[in-house]
Amino acid sequence: MFFPLIQQKTFFSLFLCGVCALLSACGQEQQTAGSSAPQQNYEWKLVTSWPKNFPGLGKAPETFARDVERMSGGRLKIKVYGDGELVPGFQVFDAVAGGTAQMGHAAAYYWKGKAPAAQIFTAIPFGMNAQETNAWFHYGGGMELWREVYAPFGLIPFAGGNTGVQMAGWFKKEINKLEDMQGLKMRIPGLGGEVLKKVGGIPVALTGGDLFTSLQSGAIDATEWVGPYNDLAFGLYKAADYYYYSGWHEPGAALEFIVNKAAYENLPQDLQAIIDVATRAVNQDMLDEYTARNNEAMQTLKMKHNVVMRPLPADVMAGLRQAAQAVMAEQAAADPMFKKVYESYQRFQVGVSEYHQVSEVEYYKNRNPQTQP
Ligand code: CA
Repeated sequence: MFFPLIQQKTFFSLFLCGVCALLSACGQEQQTAGSSAPQQNYEWKLVTSWPKNFPGLGKAPETFARDVERMSGGRLKIKVYGDGELVPGFQVFDAVAGGTAQMGHAAAYYWKGKAPAAQIFTAIPFGMNAQETNAWFHYGGGMELWREVYAPFGLIPFAGGNTGVQMAGWFKKEINKLEDMQGLKMRIPGLGGEVLKKVGGIPVALTGGDLFTSLQSGAIDATEWVGPYNDLAFGLYKAADYYYYSGWHEPGAALEFIVNKAAYENLPQDLQAIIDVATRAVNQDMLDEYTARNNEAMQTLKMKHNVVMRPLPADVMAGLRQAAQAVMAEQAAADPMFKKVYESYQRFQVGVSEYHQVSEVEYYKNRNPQTQP
């Protein structure tokens, strides 16, 4: 026989009261459902390579910190520091590895002096775009390799956003042939810088904060930065007349979150999960933001500041492509881990390109046939 409904309710109410009484008797420690440990609050520092609150790049770690605090009910608070506020932008890696901060937000290619293979996790000249790179990270073995490369430093990497295809950069003089790159002093990090060197240019390493004055003063002849959204924010159009596309060197630059491994392992599992999920969310959010804002900023540059955007000539691109192949072969020959990561990247790129040739590429052609060159 079943109990009538009213009797079932009464039975369960009594049962629950009994459980409540039992729990109350267990002690005074504050506990939440499903948790067996006392609540503990954590305060972390997150250092970045970007000016504080810089559009896109600097906004991502702020969004991340806000989301983590919200999801954890305030149990994990993260304070974000801009370039130079706690440590200079190029010291983010060391600061997180050494425990000065628990987290960082930067670009992996800044750390090529620590591990040459790190460069691959930002971008490869003529390599994969944002969508493809994310697929490699999360479904193609890329993230496992990234963790392997950072493990000796006590760091755990996470994908931390992507800018999408960048611009080739701002040049103080016209580029008409490959020889125009000779002697050109250009801010261009990572493997792109190695390619520039190969065609006779001089790559210069600068974080964002120094770009405008270096370009304006003539200390450098050219700079790449990101794309219209970020380049407009720095006012680079005031320092150089020629704005070239496309970003052959960074066809989808991935940013990174790095976490001090000991600090991460010190967190309870739910807070670790919040970090895992929040980084993944910000990784996508940044690309969404760039996709929306780059076009708006491009219109402002063209219409308000009369910037003329021009493609790098085809033979310049062909020369850069050839130089890129030579650079990648040299880097792979010089460092076994670089070779291992590059082989995985290359394998994935070959496969994904073949499908994207008949899907994405064909679709773009068919969507706007009148704008095709
Ligand atoms: Ca860039």
